[in-house]
Amino acid sequence: MMKHGCGAHMGGHGGHGESHEGHAGHGGTSPDSHKVKDPVCGMEIYEDQAYAMIRREERQIFFCSEACHEKFRTEPEKYL
Ligand SMILES: [Zn+2]
Repeated sequence: MMKHGCGAHMGGHGGHGESHEGHAGHGGTSPDSHKVKDPVCGMEIYEDQAYAMIRREERQIFFCSEACHEKFRTEPEKYL
C-alpha cells in the first residue's frame, strides 16, 4: 500500500477569503428604520429622518419637510 503524502492535498484551499462581515459596519441605517413614502412629493424617506409625522386612523404618515406636512394638512383628501 502506497502512502501518499498528505501534503499533496494541501494548498488547494485557503483562498476563501470572502466573508459577509463587510456589511456589518455600515453606519447610518439601523435595521428598524423603515422606508416610507411621503405622499405629498412621493419621495421615499426613512421614518427616523422624517421631518414630521401625523397619525391618521391606523396609519402613520411621514413627511420629508414642513412644506409637505403643511400641504397635507391643508388638503389631506388630495393625498390619500
Ligand atoms: Zn415631501
